[in-house]
Amino acid sequence: MPQTHRHLKEAPVTDPRTRDDLLEAMRLGCPLCVLIERAERKAIDHFLYDQVNDISQRDALRASRGLCLPHSEMLAEGRSALGVAILSRDILRTLTAELEASGGGSRGGLKSLLGGNPNAQLADRIGPQAGCPMCAERPRLEAPLFTGLFHNLNDANFAAAFDASAGLCRVHLANGLRAAPQAAGRDLAARQAAIWRRMEAVLDEFIRKNDYRFNEPILEHERDVWRRALQATSGWYHRDGDE
Ligand SMILES: [Zn+2]
Ligand SMILES: [Zn+2]
Repeated sequence: MPQTHRHLKEAPVTDPRTRDDLLEAMRLGCPLCVLIERAERKAIDHFLYDQVNDISQRDALRASRGLCLPHSEMLAEGRSALGVAILSRDILRTLTAELEASGGGSRGGLKSLLGGNPNAQLADRIGPQAGCPMCAERPRLEAPLFTGLFHNLNDANFAAAFDASAGLCRVHLANGLRAAPQAAGRDLAARQAAIWRRMEAVLDEFIRKNDYRFNEPILEHERDVWRRALQATSGWYHRDGDE
């Protein structure tokens, strides 16, 4: 048997760099949101430079009518105007062909006879015929980060840093609970509950101090608690121009 099998009974193998990445990302928000966003921006730039002429990728993107809105924003902020132009021309041609194929011809007429609304059918055909390919990649990007998170939460220093942070957003907490071994999942849920109770108390203070009857200054850590809470509850994340 290969020697690596002895690791299987212990904690799963995890890249030591993942620990540093998670610790650094926790300072900015949900560490999964931060690291996935970073990885996706890299993947999008890589795609625009190196894979935009790859036929299978282009087929997938024509079917999905490009990327979802958050990933389109990354495309727009990416580094290749040429790549976006090539990609968009492709999708535009596909959409125009759909419009022309329907143009008052027999296809629409036949569908009308069958009782459908031809305009609604055309609307369906120009819409996405497949999911956003970048979104489909997410589980593959998240898996090693969750492995690293559960592995490192066994370490007291790492766990203390996690407890002092905002923890995971709702979306990544749910994904993490699904991916976790049972005991690790219970531990994560308890830590996150304590973090969210603390956040709730800060929100209480923020809301109280916004009442005109109180004339107390809003403290530094209270000022942007609404933003941290929005991230926690929705999974929304946008980096604050940190590059
Ligand atoms: Zn998240
Ligand atoms: Zn997407």
